[in-house]
Amino acid sequence: MRRAQAAPAFPTPGHDHAPCLKETLQRAADAFEARGLKLTPLRQRVLEEVAGSHHAIGAYEILERLSQKERARMAPISVYRALDALLEMGVVHRLESRNAYFACHAPHGKHGTRQIILACERCATVAEVATPAAFDEIDAAARGAGFGPTRVMVEVTGLCASCAAAPA
Ligand SMILES: [Zn+2]
Ligand SMILES: [Zn+2]
Ligand SMILES: [Zn+2]
Repeated sequence: MRRAQAAPAFPTPGHDHAPCLKETLQRAADAFEARGLKLTPLRQRVLEEVAGSHHAIGAYEILERLSQKERARMAPISVYRALDALLEMGVVHRLESRNAYFACHAPHGKHGTRQIILACERCATVAEVATPAAFDEIDAAARGAGFGPTRVMVEVTGLCASCAAAPA
């Protein structure tokens, strides 16, 4: 599995984030190109806001930040459309429980449904880890109930290692 050589799920606090951001932007450019689509300037700017950290960020906050940078009020619909395109490419995921978005730093295919999402409730860092067996069990349980699952999201909240080690 490719994850074996990947970076740890949770980034080291104070790490140099520039390579993370660069990799995400490159992955996005490749993903759009592979589908014959474009990483438009707006999509790129939205992605830069989402991927600027390992935190989840709400659409409203993205809109606010971009509006400040552009010195012009942007239409919420443009931000939502850009987010939809980025979600579709799998370079951004939605943290459903917080109605927020975070950049994918764990390449795992287009839809990313086979990873559980870990969200730190103190520092707001979000990471993903592969847990294929858990999803197989969920699928089996759903099918056992005569239900055809189309999408499974598992979000776990708690404390990341650095927050757990830090004094409260
Ligand atoms: Zn980083
Ligand atoms: Zn992901
Ligand atoms: Zn934390």
